[in-house]
Amino acid sequence: MEKKETMRRIVLVPVPAQGHVTPMMQLGRALNLKGFSITVVQVQFDLVSSSYSQQFPGFQFVTLPKSLPKYEVEGLGQIEFMMMLNKTSEASFKDCIGQLFLQHGNDIDCIIYDEFMYFCGYVAQECKLPSVIFSTQSATNHVSHHEKQEKVVENMYPLRYKDLLPSGFGPVEPVLKIRVEVVNKRTASAVIFNTTSCLESLSVSWLKQELGIEVYALGPLHVTPSPPSSLPEEDKGCIEWLNKQKSRSVIYISVGTVAQMETKEILEMAWGLCNSNQPFLWVIRPGSILGSEGIEALPNEVSKIISERGYIVERAPQIEVLRHPAVGGFWSHCGWNSTLESIVEGVPLICRPFQSEQNVNAAYIVSVWEAGIQLEGEVERGKVERAVKRLIVDEEGTGMRERALVLKEKLKASLRSGGSSYNALDEFVNYLKTK
Ligand code: UDP
Repeated sequence: MEKKETMRRIVLVPVPAQGHVTPMMQLGRALNLKGFSITVVQVQFDLVSSSYSQQFPGFQFVTLPKSLPKYEVEGLGQIEFMMMLNKTSEASFKDCIGQLFLQHGNDIDCIIYDEFMYFCGYVAQECKLPSVIFSTQSATNHVSHHEKQEKVVENMYPLRYKDLLPSGFGPVEPVLKIRVEVVNKRTASAVIFNTTSCLESLSVSWLKQELGIEVYALGPLHVTPSPPSSLPEEDKGCIEWLNKQKSRSVIYISVGTVAQMETKEILEMAWGLCNSNQPFLWVIRPGSILGSEGIEALPNEVSKIISERGYIVERAPQIEVLRHPAVGGFWSHCGWNSTLESIVEGVPLICRPFQSEQNVNAAYIVSVWEAGIQLEGEVERGKVERAVKRLIVDEEGTGMRERALVLKEKLKASLRSGGSSYNALDEFVNYLKTK
C-alpha cells in the first residue's frame, strides 16, 4: 500500500572512479526526473567537480573529509584501496547522514550505494534508513561472484569457467576477499543493475531467483536524457575528422579510464592498424602508456604513420563517436559502460579485456551476442591487422554488425513505455514509495 504522498530525497554514494560515477549520476538523473531530490556524497576524491553542480542543477553535493592520506593511497592497488576506504569511511558517513537529517528533517527515503561502498549498508542500518545497492557492472559478472558458481557455469553455456575467474588485478586473494565482502555483507533491501533483461536474460532471472531481495534491471541508464557526466575535457575535433571519413570505415579505440598498456603493445597496435588500411580514432590518455606520459614517448616513425591514417585524442566524446555513421567498429577493453554504449549504437567490437569483469563482458559479446571478436594472447601487428579487417571489411563483420543492430532495437524497445527497463524503473519508484 502506498505510504507516502510526496516524493522525497535519495542519497547516492558512488565509488570515486569515472566508470562508477557516470552511471550513478545517470541513475540520479532518472530518479530526479521521477520527482526525487538527490544528494550525492563523495568519498575520498573530488571527482564531482564544480561542473557537475552546473550539469545537475538542484542536486546537493556533499564531500566527506578524506579518510586516507595521499601517501597511503599511492601504494595501494584498486582492490586494497577499496577495502581501506570501506574500513575508514563509516564514521564520517554516519556524521554526514546525521547532518542531512538536521538539514532535511526526516525526508530521506533511502541510500543508494555502489556495491563496492558496502560500509554504507551498515550506516543505513544504524540510522534505520532503507538502503539499495547499485551495481555498475553486468548482471552476469555479479552472478559469477556467487558461491554457487559451478552451477552458474552449467546454466550459462557458452560462457566457460575460465571466463569467470578473477584475473588482471595481481594476486587473486584480495579479489576473492572483496567479492566476499560485496556479496555476503548485504544489508540492502534491493539491487539495481545497469542492464536490461534482453541483454542478459539468464543472469537477470538467476539473480531474481537467488538473491532473496528485489532486483531491478533498469538500464542502460546512459540513454536517459541527461547531460554528459564526463570529467576530463573531451576533444570534439575528432567529430570533424570523422565527418570526412567513409561510412562504417573507422575503428574507434579506447581502453577506458583506468587500463594501461606497454609501449611495445602500443607500437604493435600502431603498425597493425596502419597495415589494415582502415582509418582509426584512438584515445591515448595521459598516463595510459606504462612508464610514459603520452604518445610523445613513441618513436617518430610511429607517430608519423599514426598521423597519416589515424587521429589521436586524449579523451573522446565516446557516445557521440559511437553514434557517428563513419564508425564501423570499437576496439574496447570491454568495461561495462563502454560495452553498453557500443551495443546501444549497434557497433560491433574487438574485445581486448584487461581484468576479470571485462573478461566476462568480452565472453558475452563474442559468444552470447556474437557481436564481436576477441584478440587473445600477445598483441602482434599481424593479429591486429587481421582483427580490424575481419570486423570492418569482411562479411563476418557485417554479420556481427547486423546482430548488434538487432540488439540495439531490442534495447530501445526495453526503454520505451511498456518495455522491461521502463517498467523496472517505475516498479523501483513504487517500491521506494511503499518503504
Ligand atoms: N569515456 C569517454 N571518453 C573517452 C574514454 C572513456 O567518454 O575517451 C567514457 C566512456 O564513454 C565510458 C567510461 O568513460 O562511459 C568508461 O567506463 P567503462 O566502464 O567502459 O570503463 P572503465 O573506465 O571503468 O574501465
